[in-house]
Amino acid sequence: MIKLAAGYHHISHERPLIEQDLDAYRMPAKLAEPTVCPDCSAVFHKGRWQWLEAPANANQETCPACKRIHDNFPAGYITLEGPYFNTHSEEILRTVQNHEQHERLEHPLKRIIATKRQGDTTVITTTDIHLARGIAEAVKHAFQDEPELHYNPGENLLRAYWMR
Ligand SMILES: [Zn+2]
Repeated sequence: MIKLAAGYHHISHERPLIEQDLDAYRMPAKLAEPTVCPDCSAVFHKGRWQWLEAPANANQETCPACKRIHDNFPAGYITLEGPYFNTHSEEILRTVQNHEQHERLEHPLKRIIATKRQGDTTVITTTDIHLARGIAEAVKHAFQDEPELHYNPGENLLRAYWMR
């Protein structure tokens, strides 16, 4: 077990993740439609961000994912380390990337911000807590070992640890 940081508690893989309304990167309730993100070209339409062709008259507003990337303020962290990871890192990181690419096609706000290796530890950061959890699930299914999940409801952050 990894020591819990302040504000975090354990969650199980079976329990659904209830997102709080406190997300600092939530857009104002009355975002005009259509709105296009000048950074990634995602379009806010029918209440959600989608990959669409932006109409010429669309408003411009940076989407929450690009804001998080710009501010380097991740919502999710996946920490990978250990002897098994060291010898299989290419395969494991490919699983992680495949999952993100698949999710991002449907959900423009689910993106990996960065994959950073520091010594023996690799940390992947994401724009979305559900993506971080989805990545943890993908790793669990592919490599038969469950990451530990720590959730901070106050700040709406998810940290997954996989040490193998
Ligand atoms: Zn964007």
